[in-house]
Amino acid sequence: MQKTIIIFFGPPGSGKGTQAELLAKKTDWQKISTGDLLRSEVAAKTKLGKLADKYLKTGKLVPDRFIVEMVDNSLKKKSSGFIFDGYPRNLKQLKDLLLMFKKRIKKSAPIYAIEIAVSDKEVKQRLGQRRMCACGKVYHLLYNSPINEGICDICGGKLFTRNDDKPKVISHRLKVYHHDGQAVLDYWRVLGKLIKINGEQPIAKIHNDIMEKLRELKVI
Ligand code: ADP
Ligand code: ADP
Ligand code: ZN
Repeated sequence: MQKTIIIFFGPPGSGKGTQAELLAKKTDWQKISTGDLLRSEVAAKTKLGKLADKYLKTGKLVPDRFIVEMVDNSLKKKSSGFIFDGYPRNLKQLKDLLLMFKKRIKKSAPIYAIEIAVSDKEVKQRLGQRRMCACGKVYHLLYNSPINEGICDICGGKLFTRNDDKPKVISHRLKVYHHDGQAVLDYWRVLGKLIKINGEQPIAKIHNDIMEKLRELKVI
């Protein structure tokens, strides 16, 4: 069976998680968010979680060797497609992922990277108002607010601010993104696999733009 691979790429707060979730709902593809996986490890106080905690707090990338193993373990073999959110983030992770696909996914698979383009200014505004629930659901106080203030629509959990959504850590995450991310973007662009989407539009419009592109490319 052919497995479709979609990779969401963009600065922190560009809406990768939000759009990956919407796409996963429309398809039966598995969504893999390395940020969510790492936060679950931290919450469960596993060995990896204890190690990852200090990287997440300061906005640094968790060392690549831990990431590839974690992603490999989370892939559901039977899924007909995979949607990656926040991975691969640098060239080493990209190489690791391509190797893993070679081993795991025998037939040539349609693979596309979706860049959600958003300015640093917009990122800072958005992340200051992001709230999330322990179940993984993400909200925004203005643009994507829960029905009841401070409470998750899905599970009733209490919403909180991520401890890396603070101005100083946001600035560092943006620096890491601009430093490591450019080479990854260039890789997809040269390959003709990069879909660039304007991320400064309403959530539903961005989702429609993505669906349209994927239809054009006969991915869906
Ligand atoms: P955002 O969506 O705001 O970019 P994520 O949830 O993807 O944030 O990531 C939060 C933090 O988790 C990162 O700052 C980094 O410390 C860690 N992290 C997530 N994905 C990766 C990855 N692929 N490689 C290394 N570290 C990661
Ligand atoms: P990422 O996974 O790239 O870090 P998120 O999906 O978590 O980004 O979105 C960051 C914040 O911005 C969240 O509070 C989310 O609800 C909000 N958001 C996502 N997309 C948009 C959009 N198009 N316009 C306004 N706010 C958005
Ligand atoms: Zn919840």
